[in-house]
Amino acid sequence: MSEIKITLYGPALPAGGLAMYCVVGKNEVCISTLLAAHAHTIKLVDLQASVVGFDHDQLQLSWRHEAGDYSFIPFDRSEQKKLISTLPKIDIPGLVQWKRATQSQSWVWKGLLYTFGVVAIAAGTLVWQYDRVTTWAASQVSMKTEKNIGESVLKSLNASQNLLSQGEAVNVVRDIGQKITAGSRYQYQWFVSKDPEVNAYAIPGGIIVVNRGLLKLVDSPNELAAVLAHEVQHVEERHALKNMLNSAAMATVILAVLGDTNAVVLLMAHQVSTQYFSRQVESDADLKGIQLLQSKNIDAGGMSSFFKKMDADAKKMQAGENEGDDNPSLVASWFSSHPDTLIRIQLIEKYVNSHPCNTCTTLNWNQAALRAELDHFDSK
Ligand SMILES: [Zn+2]
Repeated sequence: MSEIKITLYGPALPAGGLAMYCVVGKNEVCISTLLAAHAHTIKLVDLQASVVGFDHDQLQLSWRHEAGDYSFIPFDRSEQKKLISTLPKIDIPGLVQWKRATQSQSWVWKGLLYTFGVVAIAAGTLVWQYDRVTTWAASQVSMKTEKNIGESVLKSLNASQNLLSQGEAVNVVRDIGQKITAGSRYQYQWFVSKDPEVNAYAIPGGIIVVNRGLLKLVDSPNELAAVLAHEVQHVEERHALKNMLNSAAMATVILAVLGDTNAVVLLMAHQVSTQYFSRQVESDADLKGIQLLQSKNIDAGGMSSFFKKMDADAKKMQAGENEGDDNPSLVASWFSSHPDTLIRIQLIEKYVNSHPCNTCTTLNWNQAALRAELDHFDSK
């Protein structure tokens, strides 16, 4: 007969129980310690089995004693297994029910785990597939529909932002932009926003908006060309359209919940200027932007020099050094939507160094006219 380690609970025993041994006989259970203190011998027929424990799978055997109720549970799972296998196949009230209960409990848990696992896998697949779904959906949108989407976004944006479609700043942007996009399947439109934030963004269908804040920050036409080439790639690769389809999905949910069309229009218009792309998408736009510049014989060095400037400005901003400047926190927008600047600079420089372009040249622009117009905006 083997001894089974148990914990005994009962009157005058510590609340946490007492470690003891039990030996199962033919008709009784003997509980003892080496010192024989608190020793008990209980007839099997006097025992009552019940289910305890956090997972509802622990066997507790209890009995009535004149001093009060006693009970014990096996020390651990292996001791419990030993106890169950040594208990004779006689009726201990509740034992059959216990076995049934623990079996169904374990089924409940297994069922829950299984269900949860399936849900987790389904959710994971959905997230993974979601990108594929929007990519597929974007590929199904015709150029004409994309243009219409872009125009309606532009319309609502124009109402709130007062976009410029003419003037020296627009001329500079358009001249460089048209050089980059010559031969594209899109017919690009170029706009300048008076917004002082350092930002530029792409709207589906070939609409590019450059903020006044960004135009103030670029020091050379090649830097501006690099920014434009990056944004153009968000159009060419349909990143902007995909983002719009994403927010359209969200808009559908908002519409269903709030039934508010205005909220949806506001969301779409706000989303376009603050849209966030993943690091992968941004890097894609960077490298394809460089390829685009080089294919037009435009020196791509402006890409890394502009990013370095952004990074320096953001650091200055974080350190609070430019508080005295007229526009202290203007880099925030483009910077926050284009994360991991240092990694991007490294990737850009690596690519440019390994793809030298001997025929590439620097561009010209009418810097004086551009500055004069930007200063004019500032003075207003
Ligand atoms: Zn971008």
